[in-house]
Amino acid sequence: MLQCGMAALTLTHITHGLARAGRWSLDWLIPPQCLVCHGEVGEASGLCVTCWSKLSFIEAPFCDRLATPFPYEQGEGVVSAAALADPPLWDGARAAVIFDEAARVLVHALKYRDRHEAGLVMARLMLRAGGDLLRRADAVVPVPLYRWRLWRRRYNQSALLAQQICRAASKPFRPELLRRQRSTPSQTGLDHEERKRNMRNAFAVPDNCLGFVKGRSLVLIDDVRTTGATLEACAKVLKAAGAHRVDVLTFALVPKPKQLHI
Ligand SMILES: [Zn+2]
Repeated sequence: MLQCGMAALTLTHITHGLARAGRWSLDWLIPPQCLVCHGEVGEASGLCVTCWSKLSFIEAPFCDRLATPFPYEQGEGVVSAAALADPPLWDGARAAVIFDEAARVLVHALKYRDRHEAGLVMARLMLRAGGDLLRRADAVVPVPLYRWRLWRRRYNQSALLAQQICRAASKPFRPELLRRQRSTPSQTGLDHEERKRNMRNAFAVPDNCLGFVKGRSLVLIDDVRTTGATLEACAKVLKAAGAHRVDVLTFALVPKPKQLHI
């Protein structure tokens, strides 16, 4: 048994050693590039200092329900006028950055260019932004993609982010708790009401997951929150299934969705 363990240890060392050597030789052949501007960076899977400084990080103080930044300190757990006037169907929200040009390049690198390293950077920032929500969570659920879209893209970017976050935060990754039961037309160019209509009955909690969802605190993960219609549709079915809390954590947040077409 001990021998077997030692053999495994040695094999692990060799594998790691080879992987490291492989990365070094690759770094030597192709120097690691910044995910946004493709300039040279010291470490693989990162951003250069210039691109890093261009990201608009959402720092406290911000609205506990919408994650929108406040211009000045208002105390912990304070909710914005917008959240009071039109409360979202989820409980708390956090986002790492404002969706601007620098954030868009990162999101698109993961979503459309298969750059999974972008997901590592995004997940790391989401972990920092959503630490308090994750601490009280029983499980983490990514926003699901419909079957054919998943087949076409080959992976779900939200699931990829959620997986990384769960690994780092030691939380259960439970993508099966939500199912996308129909395909929805593109949300691009639609306002909040149209997006809400578009998302009606799009998600469901499978019957065999109802027992788990009841009474649990869950964190929903998506890459970008635009009007929030998709996340609200997910939160709605999880709450209807008896979830105690549903919080949302996204990489980016679009502060004024009407001005952007994404
Ligand atoms: Zn750069």
